[in-house]
Amino acid sequence: MSKDLKNLTFQQVRQLVAEFGGRKFLAKYLFSFIHAHHARQIDEITPLPKDLRRRLTGQGYFISQLETVETLVDPDGTVKFLFAAADGVRLESVLLTDAGEKQRKTLCISCQAGCRMACALCATGRGGFQRNLTAAEIADQVYQAARCAEKINNIVYMGMGEPFDNYDEVIRSARILNHHAGANIGQRHITISTCGIPHIIERFADEALQVRLAVSLHAAGDRKRRRIMPVAAKYPLAELISAIKTYQQKTARRVSFEYCMIKNLNDSPADARALIGLIKGINAAINLIEYNPHEGCTFAAAARPTIRNFKDILMQAGVETIIRHKRGRKINAACGQLTATLLHPQSPNHT
Ligand code: SF4
Repeated sequence: MSKDLKNLTFQQVRQLVAEFGGRKFLAKYLFSFIHAHHARQIDEITPLPKDLRRRLTGQGYFISQLETVETLVDPDGTVKFLFAAADGVRLESVLLTDAGEKQRKTLCISCQAGCRMACALCATGRGGFQRNLTAAEIADQVYQAARCAEKINNIVYMGMGEPFDNYDEVIRSARILNHHAGANIGQRHITISTCGIPHIIERFADEALQVRLAVSLHAAGDRKRRRIMPVAAKYPLAELISAIKTYQQKTARRVSFEYCMIKNLNDSPADARALIGLIKGINAAINLIEYNPHEGCTFAAAARPTIRNFKDILMQAGVETIIRHKRGRKINAACGQLTATLLHPQSPNHT
């Protein structure tokens, strides 16, 4: 069991308290002081008996904390956070506020420092992989960002890294963020976005979780998809779509497909029709994302009228489609722009 108490699910905290001979109800204090009141040290958790606090500390237990290195605010209201972990590794999160009645605040969080997937449209992928983040480091992005925002009520795992390449920590972090004694973020307000790893999607279907699934498609044919996402060479679309259908049969949950609109590559009416054919039989919504070119990338963004036309074709076929306009561009916080660098601030990315 991890010595970082922030890394433990409620069940694990319970088990730990029992091992130390503490009474059952103390687990709730311990968990809520970490995940709802954001205690930085075990000694701050004063409802715990002094002796228990002393013994936990004596045996090396601690509460980790991300350091907020920089906070950038875009004129459109998007906020980007640059965090440093205890070992100096840098990661980013992006806070998006939706105007409108509900004032939805969505935090786009990272699950890895860097990424192994090397998608051509993504700055994170170009920077290589450093390490997986722990569940504590994933959840702590939410707690640190909440210090300068009102309650965050929506979480998307669309920042740096591929969630299904760090499966155990991601799932544990989702359970921690969801627990009612902690941040209490509803499972249906949590979305995990993957580049599409079929056998992990099937595994995810068996979790007792209502967390939403998003899959980055970006093309409806393998050849084009391989140009954008190297992972497509390993997992062809037929295998991916089959896994998504299995997921949907087991969970009956709708899937979101992310589709980044790239000029002259995947933005034609024929591409739209191919997409309709590909997802036939799947209860899905499509997010058409305006592409954000970044340094060193050879792709260009599709024109807005082209995107609108693409959307119309999908909608006419009965496919629910939303256009995701660029947000946070001036602070390099838009999809595909995250790199966690201070000198050239850019950040997370499941585009
Ligand atoms: S888009 Fe996502 S999976 Fe692809 S390289 Fe970027 S962070 Fe990794």
